[in-house]
Amino acid sequence: MPHSGDRPDATTGAGRFAPSPSGDLHLGNLRTAVLAWLFARSTGRRFLLRVEDLDRVRPGAEQRQLADLAALGLDWDEQVVHQSRRIRLYENAIDRLTRAGLTYECFCTRREIQQATSAPHAPAGAYPGTCRDLTPEQRDAKRSADRAPAIRLRSTTQWFTVHDVLHGDFTGVVDDFVLRRNDGTPAYNLAVVVDDAAQGIDQVVRGDDLLTSAPRQAYLATVLGLEVPHYAHVPLALNQEGKRLAKRDGAVTLADQEAQGHSAADVLGTIAVSLRLADPGEPVTLPLLLDRWDPARMPREPWVFHPDRDA
Ligand code: GLU
Repeated sequence: MPHSGDRPDATTGAGRFAPSPSGDLHLGNLRTAVLAWLFARSTGRRFLLRVEDLDRVRPGAEQRQLADLAALGLDWDEQVVHQSRRIRLYENAIDRLTRAGLTYECFCTRREIQQATSAPHAPAGAYPGTCRDLTPEQRDAKRSADRAPAIRLRSTTQWFTVHDVLHGDFTGVVDDFVLRRNDGTPAYNLAVVVDDAAQGIDQVVRGDDLLTSAPRQAYLATVLGLEVPHYAHVPLALNQEGKRLAKRDGAVTLADQEAQGHSAADVLGTIAVSLRLADPGEPVTLPLLLDRWDPARMPREPWVFHPDRDA
């Protein structure tokens, strides 16, 4: 595993990249990883990797993801953490919340929630609270109907504001979101909050598709008495139709690029150009990009990837 030679002190906080091992990383993911590394290293933070493998695991994907990150020159501190080996931490957090009266069982199906939330008065994307105030009798009846419950947070607010380095103050919906799914798996929003705190991560840099999750996560951190990290939600990579970049958009993984004769260093160059940290064709390394890095100057608009022009 790569290690940074000059390891900052463990008390300086940490940034991270937390991929789900559901397939190969594409150029947009790699660009986000580079940004997370630049944000962390430029502020003297450790940089940690966490494999978010609670679901959607594809065999071999994790190994390829880590190899691709290393090929770009990213280094990270400490051992890579796997969420699937940390279930006890998540269950402990759920237990604490339950003892404080801050959870409840939810028996709703996805369809029931969809029907309820399509009502005109419901806030978009928010759980309507169907199971929040069931009587013990109603709960027992639902339990015996043979449906395992999910566990939801009994939230005491509808909105929460986070501060984001790139987006400023962002206020978003906080509903009674799921902490443990009805198949027993800890939910993403819980795991991410527990892990970031447990790993000493105080800087979260990730795609801006997750900006709307940040208020829920920051609220949950607050309820658990954990520190809310600094956030930077960075622009996504899009295809030429303006949709989120995907595998079907051509040569978008490092392996695809290499098959076309572009080395990992070339791909880093493409990413650097997209971040306005280098000129087209200029050879770059991560230390050089770190030297040039100024978050105030990074593009705020999505990166539209043109396969013919950009690679
Ligand atoms: N595992 C998530 C993803 O790959 C990222 C979670 C996060 O950065 O908070 O989309």
